[in-house]
Amino acid sequence: MSHRAPIITIDGPSGAGKSTLGRMLARALNLLYIDTGAMYRAVALAVLRAGVNINDRQAVAEIARRARIELAGDPNDVRVTLDGEDISQEIRSEQVSHLASIISAIPEVRREMVRRQREMGARGGVVLDGRDTGTVVFPNADLKFFLTATPEERAQRRYEEERARMQDRAFDDVLREINLRDERDSTRDDSPLRIAEDAVVIDTTELSIEEAFQRMMEVARARGLTEAR
Ligand code: C5P
Repeated sequence: MSHRAPIITIDGPSGAGKSTLGRMLARALNLLYIDTGAMYRAVALAVLRAGVNINDRQAVAEIARRARIELAGDPNDVRVTLDGEDISQEIRSEQVSHLASIISAIPEVRREMVRRQREMGARGGVVLDGRDTGTVVFPNADLKFFLTATPEERAQRRYEEERARMQDRAFDDVLREINLRDERDSTRDDSPLRIAEDAVVIDTTELSIEEAFQRMMEVARARGLTEAR
């Protein structure tokens, strides 16, 4: 392990447990948690509000460059603000999820977000969660995880989350949307979702959150990353 504070990346498809486990890991190892998906979601919301056509790539890219996005790195209180406004709840809507997966394929948008993510993590001491954090953002990260689970299991988790937030949708619709987003994230030209060669792959289909967390901590300890003092 290097001497600077560690960088841990967690990539994988949606619903694999990245954000829950990323926060748990950040808490246990006393690191900041960076939800890179929230940044693409914030851009999507800004685009929606500006009313620009999402096919107008230049206009979307300009919005991405101008958007002031802040992530509170405290893993116990993850807040996302856009130009000073708390948008933590609003970016979890189905509409924003959908739009985020479309605008995140635009190279200029990615370039801007990746630049900001590198800046935020430059000094180390971070856990990043996303699709390309171990492959593109920090290819030299100290530890890379790739979390996955079957589409049905991931859709089931999303379905339950949405129900808890009173967003009632048919399970089949949730599954269809997850498959669509996976397909878009995996087939886009710029930074498609893929497993870094040196990533530790964990399939969470049959694991509880606690079990998955323990596996990740075992790997972290084996790499010399130890608990917060
Ligand atoms: O992880 P989350 O579902 O919040 O991400 C929203 C969308 O942002 C994803 O569907 C994906 O298209 C995009 N994304 C990305 N690269 C990242 C994180 C998210 O393209 N590093």
